[in-house]
Amino acid sequence: MNIYFDNAASTPIDPEVLEAMVECLRQSSGNPSSIHTHGREARVLIERARKQVAKLMGTSPSEIFFTSGGTEADNTVLLSACLNLHRSHIITSAIEHHAVLHTAQYLEKRHGIPVHYVHLLEDGSVDLDSLEDLLKKYPNAIVSLMEANNEIGNLLDVSVAGTLARSHGALFHSDTVQTVGHKKHDLKNTPVDFIVASAHKFHGPKGVGFLYMNAEHPLPPLLHGGSQERNVRGGTENVAGIVGLAIALEKAITNLERDRAHITLLKQTLHRGLQETLGDILCNGTSGDPEKSLYTILSVGMPPSEDNELLLFNLDIEKISVSAGSACTSGTNIGSHVLQAIGAPENRGHLRFSFSRMNTLEEVQQAIQTMNQIFSQQ
Ligand code: PLP
Repeated sequence: MNIYFDNAASTPIDPEVLEAMVECLRQSSGNPSSIHTHGREARVLIERARKQVAKLMGTSPSEIFFTSGGTEADNTVLLSACLNLHRSHIITSAIEHHAVLHTAQYLEKRHGIPVHYVHLLEDGSVDLDSLEDLLKKYPNAIVSLMEANNEIGNLLDVSVAGTLARSHGALFHSDTVQTVGHKKHDLKNTPVDFIVASAHKFHGPKGVGFLYMNAEHPLPPLLHGGSQERNVRGGTENVAGIVGLAIALEKAITNLERDRAHITLLKQTLHRGLQETLGDILCNGTSGDPEKSLYTILSVGMPPSEDNELLLFNLDIEKISVSAGSACTSGTNIGSHVLQAIGAPENRGHLRFSFSRMNTLEEVQQAIQTMNQIFSQQ
């Protein structure tokens, strides 16, 4: 049995989503910008999806903009806020996804916009005092702090950070790629200016996502061309992808509580099972704390071993797909910037197990058994 525990990287597409997308690709031949019947039919599909997404996110359709995914949306926010809205500083953290970090670093290098990194507490949580200090110095900043870290699952209270940022006059962006579809958002009542989502993280298709832009801070376009997405993002829309995204989000939010309970049980069972069978494991960041980490991610440092580098390979041979997170800085392995930033020990092999509603307890038991076998042979 092949086991897939890499859902933070991408989730399997939901069969209903796939069916609706195939139907859409078959039936919808028009360009949504065309004014004839075929075009209007495609346009109706997009606007219906936009309404559906807006309702699920607790906001209005005019604040939802479809993109090619999380990376494009993160880039749009940072580039447009700095280059078009003249935000002169970026405040972020060292454990953001590269979609944010590399964009910020590009802006610093090529456009001279200084990037300031908030201090992280020992468990990788954002130090809010440090955020406040930076905001006092650089109120004209855009702040970009993720709601849940994709490697270690650390959670940020976006309402607290957003309130702080806005109280100093900064713009507040949160990369919510790992939380949309896994938590209920109520954007009208949340102090954020921008958030982003990616459909393939909640059983939708790859290559489509959205950007929420608070109406108070409209961003000028980054992609110039047609007037699609109300002039914010030129380019013919990915109609089937957008349809799939909306259905996937609807299903995720409708079944949220049930799925959360199931996935939480999987995570806890694996955590306990590894502790009981291997003993000397450690959870990275807040990953082992159910209150402070995303329930879909368990990041563990395995017992120190000579064969750390073979761990992922051995698991793959046993048909278990997980993701590595190496803290190693030497040789060709450049390691995980997140594990390095939180000071994860380099003598351990680090694994990220990430779950979805499609995983089962049997798979977790199998993974525990396999890990036990691998470590007892070492
Ligand atoms: N931000 C976070 C936190 C992610 O986990 C990812 C994907 O792994 C992205 C951004 C990029 O999203 P996409 O794959 O849609 O470009």
